[in-house]
Amino acid sequence: MQKTDIKSMNESELSAFLADTGEPAFRATQLFKWLQSGVSDFDLMTDIPKKLRDKLKETCYIADVKIVKRLKSAADGTVKYLYELYDGEYIESVLMKYKHGYTVCISTQVGCRMGCGFCASGINGLYRNLTASEMLAQITAAERDNGIRVSNVVMMGMGEPLDNFANSVKFLQLVSDDKGINIGLRHISLSTCGLVPGIEKLKEYNFPITLSISLHAPFDDLRSSIMRVNKRYNISQLLSACRGYQAVTTRRISFEYALIEGVNDTDACAAELARILKGIMCHVNLIPANPVKENSFKKPDNNKILFFKSRLEAQGLNATVRRTLGADIDASCGQLRRKAKEGNV
Ligand code: SAH
Repeated sequence: MQKTDIKSMNESELSAFLADTGEPAFRATQLFKWLQSGVSDFDLMTDIPKKLRDKLKETCYIADVKIVKRLKSAADGTVKYLYELYDGEYIESVLMKYKHGYTVCISTQVGCRMGCGFCASGINGLYRNLTASEMLAQITAAERDNGIRVSNVVMMGMGEPLDNFANSVKFLQLVSDDKGINIGLRHISLSTCGLVPGIEKLKEYNFPITLSISLHAPFDDLRSSIMRVNKRYNISQLLSACRGYQAVTTRRISFEYALIEGVNDTDACAAELARILKGIMCHVNLIPANPVKENSFKKPDNNKILFFKSRLEAQGLNATVRRTLGADIDASCGQLRRKAKEGNV
């Protein structure tokens, strides 16, 4: 019998699930609080009667992640985790410390099928989607390991969140529940390579999250050469979806732009980027490209990065260069998992 993923249930789903057990209504609330607190053993739920715990053990499982590797940056305290899932698959998460608190970068899939040319996560395609509970567990595991509370989440690890739409939405609802982990949606970013139908569906929820768009190139031919998804949904379709999204949510959109030497760092790129983003309330996040063993992409030197930024600013765009955290621990996503699969961690 397939066991039920009980940690992916919200309070009312738990209540319906418990309906035929004859338990009082408050049991669902108690159970929800325990599950969301990160407890992964029914026997630790001391105010739940033993009979019910035994029954739940038979029919349900509590998703968790196991720390296989923990790399802490000596430079800035960033911690990179390699987690093992119940089926032996690996995912990565990163815990970063900022002035305003701790941010966790979570994975939403094992692998990825988007196939962006510069990214290590998609090299072997998609293995499987993560459940909402496995996304939550990445946060509670980092909190437990460091004795801290996480205040911000970015869905920017391995995987494409909008390619795992239902579980990503469920995660957003659960993580922001005030009886659960209770991280406000305003403190959460969701990053997508540009799945237009997903952006349109997400708009309907009107979540006050920050939508991040991995743009990386302002010309269709260039973007298609580094991001396969652009052949399906081109820049004009993508930006039109962004405008529609902003019209509903009124939230500022963040555009990610990984600067790759000799590829997308020209003056013409800066000018075109500023032109196409005109009229969208946005922020451009410049990411110096992280080197990946399997490709030859390099980041431009610092002067060139600052020059690109100044060109955008001169044309009225708001741009920042992402602070490189954890450079000494291979924090670039997907690489640790690849090493683990090759038996090298
Ligand atoms: N699938 C989502 C989220 C995961 S990737 C997305 O595409 O947005 C998180 C961010 O890291 C994306 O902007 C992605 O394009 C970027 N990225 C991936 N590999 C990179 C690399 N080697 N150097 C710099 N940025 C990279």
